[in-house]
Amino acid sequence: MGEVADRFANVRERAELAYRRVRGSSDGLRIVCVTKMQPLPRVLEVIEAGATDIGENYLQEAAGKGIFELRQSHEVTIRYIGRLQSNKYNAILRDFDTVDSADPKLLGRVHAAGRTGMFRAQTFLLEVNAGGEPQKAGLTIAQVRDLALAHNPALDEISGLMAVVPLEATEEVRAGMYDAVSLLFQDLTKEFGPSRIKTLSMGTSDDFELAILHGSNMIRVGTAIFGPRASGPS
Ligand SMILES: *Cc1c(COP(=O)(O)O)cnc(C)c1O
Repeated sequence: MGEVADRFANVRERAELAYRRVRGSSDGLRIVCVTKMQPLPRVLEVIEAGATDIGENYLQEAAGKGIFELRQSHEVTIRYIGRLQSNKYNAILRDFDTVDSADPKLLGRVHAAGRTGMFRAQTFLLEVNAGGEPQKAGLTIAQVRDLALAHNPALDEISGLMAVVPLEATEEVRAGMYDAVSLLFQDLTKEFGPSRIKTLSMGTSDDFELAILHGSNMIRVGTAIFGPRASGPS
């Protein structure tokens, strides 16, 4: 087994162990392999080792290295997890299978277009900035609750949440944030039903076990599988 396949197997084993502790089985856990700034052969290696979900942050980088062509030969879901710019909405919605970093503006666009088959992307997670960090994208928990109270149609388009947390926060602080996002997720599940609200994406290389123990069913792991990456476009 290659190095990437080896590390992926290790991450999967640890994640499944944590998930079984809270849910009794590993059914329903998804691992998104985050491949920004990683060359295509490493992406292929992880897919051949069993990865089903690939996360990319930059449209141009993903297109340039041939990420989207992987779908011709492999059963794989290509997820957009990066920053959104409105001049790239259409291209992102055309090329990616999901947008996990969706905001109300993009969801409004999707809602207005209806399910016309105009876009490939049919699955959306709303990004939550759990620590309210000003330099990061995503709504605060309070802002998501306001959208729900206002019956904002953007929420009709989502199947869950993707949370980002401050990396420098202590484990205890992050656990508290993951709990708060979990509570929000449970409230949305009650409001819209579990057949619609299904996915809670929380946890990265540093803390995916902690996130799973606090409610995550989708983790996003880059460096723990691929090692350090070259620095990304700003
Ligand atoms: C880069 C990135 C990750 C992966 O982070 P690692 O620390 O490499 O695991 C996860 N989520 C988002 C939104 C990212 O941009």
